[in-house]
This record gives sequence, structure tokens and C-alpha cells, in this order.
Amino acid sequence: MSRELGWYARRLRLMTPTEVAWRGADHGRRAAWARRQVQPGQPAATPASTRGSLCLATPLPAGTRDRVDPEARKAVVAAADRVLTGEWTLLGTPRPDICVPDWFLDPVTGRRAPQGSLAFRIDHRDEAVTGNVKAVWELSRHHHLTVLSAAWWLTGEDSYAELVADQLRSWWAANPFLSGVHWTSGIELGIRLTSWVWIRRLLDEWPGVHDLFEHDDALRQLWWHQRYLAAFRSRGSSANNHAVAEACGLLTAACALPWFDESTRWRDVALRRLQSDLRANTFPSGVNRELASDYHRFVSELGLIAAAETAAAGHPVEDQTWDLLTASLDVAAALVDVTGRPPRQGDGDEGRALVLDDPADDAWAQLLSLGAATVGPRPWWPAPRLTVAGAAVGALLPPRPATAPRPTAAPRTFADAGISLLRTPPEDGPEIWCRCDGGPHGFLSIAAHAHADALAVEVRYDGVDVLVDPGTYCYHGQPEWRSYFRSTRAHNTVEIDGENQSVEGGPFLWTRHAQTRVDAVPADEPRTQTWRGAHTGYSRLDATVVHRRTVTLDRRTRALTITDELSGTTSHTLRVAFHLGPAVTVDLSGCLARLSWPGGDGMVGAELHLPPGLRWGEHRGETDPVLGWFSPGFGRRVPTTTLVGTGEFTGTLQATSVLDLPRAAHAGTGRRQNPVETTARKQR
Ligand SMILES: [Zn+2]
Repeated sequence: MSRELGWYARRLRLMTPTEVAWRGADHGRRAAWARRQVQPGQPAATPASTRGSLCLATPLPAGTRDRVDPEARKAVVAAADRVLTGEWTLLGTPRPDICVPDWFLDPVTGRRAPQGSLAFRIDHRDEAVTGNVKAVWELSRHHHLTVLSAAWWLTGEDSYAELVADQLRSWWAANPFLSGVHWTSGIELGIRLTSWVWIRRLLDEWPGVHDLFEHDDALRQLWWHQRYLAAFRSRGSSANNHAVAEACGLLTAACALPWFDESTRWRDVALRRLQSDLRANTFPSGVNRELASDYHRFVSELGLIAAAETAAAGHPVEDQTWDLLTASLDVAAALVDVTGRPPRQGDGDEGRALVLDDPADDAWAQLLSLGAATVGPRPWWPAPRLTVAGAAVGALLPPRPATAPRPTAAPRTFADAGISLLRTPPEDGPEIWCRCDGGPHGFLSIAAHAHADALAVEVRYDGVDVLVDPGTYCYHGQPEWRSYFRSTRAHNTVEIDGENQSVEGGPFLWTRHAQTRVDAVPADEPRTQTWRGAHTGYSRLDATVVHRRTVTLDRRTRALTITDELSGTTSHTLRVAFHLGPAVTVDLSGCLARLSWPGGDGMVGAELHLPPGLRWGEHRGETDPVLGWFSPGFGRRVPTTTLVGTGEFTGTLQATSVLDLPRAAHAGTGRRQNPVETTARKQR
């Protein structure tokens, strides 16, 4: 069986009979729609269902732009200027052609994706066909055009609006219905459509806007995009963030630009889908079920933006949907460390629902600003400044009180998602922040964006990564790197017999999921916080194998203790990994790792006491096999040091690691001289 067929067989096994039937129907629809393809340059009719006034239904109220924080305003104008001067980076790769883009170029491989082929026949999973498709698609989400439109809205400088008009006309002409790579994935259409609505809204007072949007090309594209999204939808095992983005695009356009006979039907269909997909994608606690921090942000953004459109259009989402979005925002505010940085759990591709601010600025802070402007902040939230998106999206609706009760203090455990934070309070000095992972492997039968990270920890000191989740790096192409970054070996946990805890079936496919449970969660603010979890992912190797982990943070000694217990009946090898943050340097001597990194007041020192029963070594930037890497963002990777302890066990094994962190961030040697701790050390 070829690799592609093998993947397809594995994928098929994870679908329900209903989903197989849906896919069969979609396949038939695609075959029927093939004759509707319009080739580039081929004339096409104006949609016959275009009706009445072509005005924007929901313009921004006067005075909205005056509310934007001056720093946010300056930042987005500077970002727009970077587009004008060709200094733009997408997914870690420069796009010097940003002023006159090649919509089909993959700047990573230099390949050009197909433009004239029928979209349904393009295999975007094959890098030989499309190049790195993520890099090709990203530019056509048109986030740089919403940035330019925001700059026009704030400054009235025509050069910004004119470049938007040129590029939209260029894209529309180059990408007629069902031709080329930009019609192969619904999520791309959904995000692009959301961008177009906001371009239209931000340019509402620009004299050229009517000529731009009431022209045949624009009308056709708006109609084609909505028609496609209404007909094809991510369902079943694919109904993750993609489904929410598709519903958001269709709903946003149908509400704001109700220019077609079908608009009311599209709005109603999209509203139902948005609500049911948001519900399905979110735990009752508000945590996104993909268990990937970046997708939590992305789906929350999509939900807020779509919900604001519905309220402005007079067809608001149900109270339960607002409550769920409110809970998602409370989760986002609760999970950030002292510097406002979110966890790095699962996949992350930096996907954005809408970019009205400088994309180089903190996306999580932008989400919290959007949340503060739409669902309202809680007193314990970090105080966000009012971004362009916060001001503009918030202006579509008054802040809305939640109908469900909201937490009065930042929660530290989200039981349904298996997420717990152990952390010190502000009065203890530099924050120790530790995320413990005891949740389900991922979402739906394929868990597309999950990492094999059961029982992994992520540890920060005063916002600096000490023990890191290495991140994602890539999706398509480079399969060995894709596999590494989501492997068990790439997480701060234990690997047995060289295998992942869950079984990988393809780059967005896990065929067997580790089962995890949490046995103890930290209580609020006690002196000692303890978390305990276990997983049975390796029961496929030996039915009795269980990995149990206990993590304890002692506020008094500032020691974080990780105890791993492994049990099984036959003989196994194990590897315990600690991935150090990219700023951390290490001096490893036997079982003692002296760590140091630059802090605000000079170097900070810490000690990691490793279990002596294992053989410890350090690995940095290795490629055969891949080990010792950190991805600061999608498309980028840098070497970092990974400490690996190897050993064997038959029956049971207990291994305890202790990370001693200092009380104050200053030049020093950790807390080796602390007598309390020396005593504690001797007891072990
Ligand atoms: Zn990970």
C-alpha cells in the first residue's frame, strides 16, 4: 500500500458511518460543481441574486477610532508602513513581495502552487504539488490588508487604502471560482471573508470603497466564497477549529454584507453552525478541546468576532454561546504567567481570526483586549490596553454582562481539560509558574493538533522559560520535524521503549490516544501545592504499564519536586527528558544540573537535582535523531539543551527530580547554601 493510501485507510477507520456518508455526499457535490469552475481570465456573470443596496449594514459608530490606545494606534500604523516598505514576515519567512504579492509562491521551497487547476483535484498534502501549502495560504488570509485598512481608518492616508484596493483586485482576478490552491480548504475562505468584511468596514468612509466593493469582481467573489462555505463544511472528525472559522466567515459576511437573495439563509445556517461548533469545541470550563493554547486563542477570537457581528445585525447568538465565550476569555486570562504569556500546549500555528493590530505584538494580549471590550474583564485579569480590534469590534455591541456566574479569582485548575497551574503568589517574589498536563490526548477521533505530552510540565521563573514545551515548528513538509515536535520525547515527561505515549498515524492524525487521569489538584494558595496524574498510554506494550507523576511546589523552599513512578511486569527502557528554555545555560555534572539565565537584575541561578538511578546526558541541536530544539514560533527553530536520563526497569521504578529556584532574581548560585534545603536534600 502506498503511503498516501495507508494514511487514507487509517483516516477512514476513525470516521463514523455518518461521517463516511457525509464525505460521500461532499464528494458527489464536488464532482457536480466541477463544471462551475471559472478559469483565470475567463468571463463570469454577476451573481443574479444580487439585490438592493450594496451598503455595509453595520458601520462603526462615529468616534470609535478616538478610543484606540495611542500605543496600539502607533503600532498598527508602523506595521502598515512595513507593508509599504516590503518588510513583512509571514510564519517566520520574509515576504519582500508583500507590496505586489505572488499569490501562489511558497517562499520556503520557491515552488508555485497551482493556479488554474480545479481546486478539488489539487493535493495540498503533497509538497511537490503546492510547496509548503501553509506558507502559500497564509498570505491569502489577507491579514496584511486588514492592517493597511486599519491604518487608513486611523490616519486617512490614501496610500494605505489604495494598496488594499490594488491587492484585492489582483487577488480577485487571479483566483476565480474553484481555480487553484486557495479554494482547497474552507478555513482559508472563512478567514479571508472575515478579513474582507473588515476591510469594507474600515474603509467605509474612503471615497474609493464603492467602486472597489460594488464592482463585479467583488460581488462575484463574495458570493462565491459564501456559496462554497454554505455547501462544504468541516464535519465529524474534522470539525475542530476549521469548522468554527468556516462558520465565522459565512456568518460575518452574511450579517454585514447582506447583498444577495441567499444572505438571510446563509446567516441562519452559519449562526446554527457557529453555536453548535463552538459548543462542541469547548469544554464546559471554557478551555478549547483541542488542548492547544494557540487554538484556544484562535477559536475564542473567531467566536467573539462572529458573535459581535450577529449582535450588530440584530440576530444575536444565544446567551449560552456568550457565556461559553466569556468562560473561554476567563480561561485565557487565568492561564497567563506574570508577564502575560500563555502556556505552550499542543500545536500552534499563530493563526489569527482577524488582524487589526500590529501582528508582531502579543496576540494573547490582543485577545484579552478584545475580550475586555466584548465580554468585559474581571478584576483579576491582567489590565489590557484598548487595541484597534478591541475598540472596533467592541463598538459593534455594548459590553454584555454574562448570564452565568464568573470566577471571583483566577482559577488554577480546569478539571475537564486536565490543566493545573502550580504557582507562587506575587508576595513570594519572582513567580514560579508550572503547568501540569493531565488532560485527554486531544479533540475528536483524530486529535489533529495534539502532542504526545501526557503528564508533561512547563516551568517558568518570573516569565522566563526554564523547562519548556518545545512548540510546533511545522505542519507540512519535513515529516521528521513534524513528528519530533509532537512526540513524547520532545516533552518534559517520560518515554518508554522509545515509543510515543499515543500512536501517530499521520501529520494531523493520532490513531491511538493515551488515557490520562488526574488524582490530585492544588488547593488555593497553600504552602505546598501538589498535583498528581497517571496515564496508561503504554498499555499497548505491556498491559500493566502505568506512568504516575506527582509534582509538588513548596512555596517556602521554592523547590519544585517531580516524582515519576513507573510500573509494569516485563522489562522496559525509559527516557526522562527535561527541555531547557532557550535562554538557559547548563553545567551538568553527574546528576546535578546547574542552570543559569539572564534575569532582570543579572544572572539567575537554579539547580536541577536529577534522579541518580538514570544515566544523564545533554543534547543540543541534534538532527540524527532530532533532539534538543525549541521553536519560538511557527516556521522557526533554534537549538536548546535537553537533559535526558536513560535507564531500564522491571516491575517498578521511582525517580525524583528537584528543581530549586531562587527567591530573588539576582546574580547568584541558586540556593545551594540554604540550610533548610540542604536538610531537605539529605532526606531524599
Ligand atoms: Zn508540545
